[in-house]
Amino acid sequence: MSDNKLIHGLTVKEWEKDIDKYVKINRLHIKVCKYCGAVFWEGKWIEDNINNVIQKIISRKISKLVEVRYPFTLRDYSIKGIEINGKKILLNLLIKVGIDDKYFDVEKELLIETENSICPRCLARKVKSYDTVIQIRGQKGLSRSDLIEVYNIIGSLPTPVKREIIDIKSTKDGIDVLLNDKGLGRYIAKIFERKTGAHVIESYKLVSRKPDGKIKSKLSISVRLPPRDAKFLVRDSRNDLILMYGLSSSGYLAYNLDKEKYIVVPYRVFWREMKEVKDISWRIMRVIGFTKDKVVLLDENDYSTYEATSILSEEFVKDERVSVLEYKGKVYVIKTATLERGLQNGKKEKEEKS
Ligand SMILES: [Zn+2]
Repeated sequence: MSDNKLIHGLTVKEWEKDIDKYVKINRLHIKVCKYCGAVFWEGKWIEDNINNVIQKIISRKISKLVEVRYPFTLRDYSIKGIEINGKKILLNLLIKVGIDDKYFDVEKELLIETENSICPRCLARKVKSYDTVIQIRGQKGLSRSDLIEVYNIIGSLPTPVKREIIDIKSTKDGIDVLLNDKGLGRYIAKIFERKTGAHVIESYKLVSRKPDGKIKSKLSISVRLPPRDAKFLVRDSRNDLILMYGLSSSGYLAYNLDKEKYIVVPYRVFWREMKEVKDISWRIMRVIGFTKDKVVLLDENDYSTYEATSILSEEFVKDERVSVLEYKGKVYVIKTATLERGLQNGKKEKEEKS
């Protein structure tokens, strides 16, 4: 097309001279959370990089932000640059307007004014206000391996879930995870239940009654990790005596002394059915020798000797003091160090109950 051809009565050069008058840019006003950078737009908070949010807003609102007068129409636009200066964001726009089949480029600046604000999540975090607390506990505080596992699980939660966590507090007997979403709290507790075999109990606490009669309550979710590293005795629902000695993904590794066989006790069954053993005590003896499959023991109180079965494939050394259990005509031996941890855990359990 030749530049001399008239378009709506004027030459291209004449249109070009006045093109600015036909394109008007409106300013944009947005609220930005001063803590996390979330942008408030059209009634909700958008969490994204501010550049991405601005591009999204511009593309959706371009016809409102860029007003093009007759006889021109807006054909296309691109963002040439973004300059952030304090509360002002300046966008360099290259706007393509058209009249019939002739296009013109117009460069304009779009001013975005931002207002400092605070999004509800950051507000909750700031005042540590929460309606849900997940209390992660062990039998005797949380051991080092418990802590590593707890933090690994929290660390592997999906990012949107992690963002909802207001605070993680270390208390004297465990870890508290605070959030403002009861459903999400239950979701996290379920993950702990599935990954660790933890016992989960929910309880509500009334916090206040609002003027409109609505009740505000806090949800406590107790996540009790199963005892690990410990060896201890329990009774099952048939009153069989069971020695718990290890953990697997599906439950406790255990030995049923009545049935004389190795079993796996699912965590669910452990929490629901297993009872503490009070009527059986271990005795301390000295290892004086070994026979095939047996450990020979000396009771230093009366100098009697025993042949004991080791059920946990532990290695004993001569003169070592070990824990011995006589049960239904058989004598069992386990290392005292490992058992003590179990007994301590059991003791702690009793103290908590009383
Ligand atoms: Zn925020």
